[in-house]
Amino acid sequence: MGRIAYVNGRFVPHSEAVVHIEDRGYQLADAVYEVWALFDGKLADAEGHFARLERSLGELSIPMPMTRVALTLVLKEAVRRNRVREGSIYLQVSRGVAPRQHAYPSDPLRPAVIMTVSRVDRVADELRAAKGVSVLTVPENRWGRADIKTVGLLPNAMAKQKAKEAGAMEAWFVDDLGFVTEGASSNAWIVDSDGRLRTRDTNANILRGITRHTLLKIIGREDLPVDERPFTPAEAIAAKEAFITGAGSLVLPVIAVDGKPVGEGSPGPVATRLRRLYIEQAKAAAI
Ligand code: PMP
Repeated sequence: MGRIAYVNGRFVPHSEAVVHIEDRGYQLADAVYEVWALFDGKLADAEGHFARLERSLGELSIPMPMTRVALTLVLKEAVRRNRVREGSIYLQVSRGVAPRQHAYPSDPLRPAVIMTVSRVDRVADELRAAKGVSVLTVPENRWGRADIKTVGLLPNAMAKQKAKEAGAMEAWFVDDLGFVTEGASSNAWIVDSDGRLRTRDTNANILRGITRHTLLKIIGREDLPVDERPFTPAEAIAAKEAFITGAGSLVLPVIAVDGKPVGEGSPGPVATRLRRLYIEQAKAAAI
């Protein structure tokens, strides 16, 4: 059975799913998105992603295209029609279609909504997590509103490409003060040389990762020492462990930064345990 996409109220074969050429998402990146991990066909961290979607839309004065309840039903129907149990669902909401101009059109538009569902191989994912991944640092060059989850991802795409060319899985942006902000599609963490967990605070220009948020709650529950405080690439290399979080990577150990090993150069016990705890929690709370 082929993949099914959702486009503006209709489920259509993925290969026939198209949007208008004057969709403001296409022309101006005037659109936001969310990605939910799927465990056994259920949405992980559902509430958090909905709350961030509403916030991103609010910051851009784009109305919610439908209620949370209706959106949940459509998302779940998209998952069902694709028969995906393990994977992710992508939702994009653009301001809508209008003749090209920069300012928002004065007449309210109907937001354009699309959804796609992807399968992931969780066995391959676990093997990758057991080996760990490498990251490459790149200068921070994004706009100042990385807290809004917009589809304006060109700096992220360029950073990922650079990482890929260097044989790394993720890129870490480093700001003018020399501190890591976050990954191109994940939040960045270390277990520092004192054994304290550290990740950038959300007053910085970063996306408020939902996986990050849930993991902070787990860390609190487990009574592990944690600081929402910046770290440099040198501190990451000198750290005991490093890892990234995101709806795609979940909790993924980082074993090298810029080609230099972190800790023992293999996934550490804290990241490995937090990955297990996160997956357990996400599965139990998925809807
Ligand atoms: N930062 C960026 C730039 C991202 O694209 C993502 C993934 N969407 C994250 C962080 C992680 O966010 P989440 O845990 O909500 O997937």
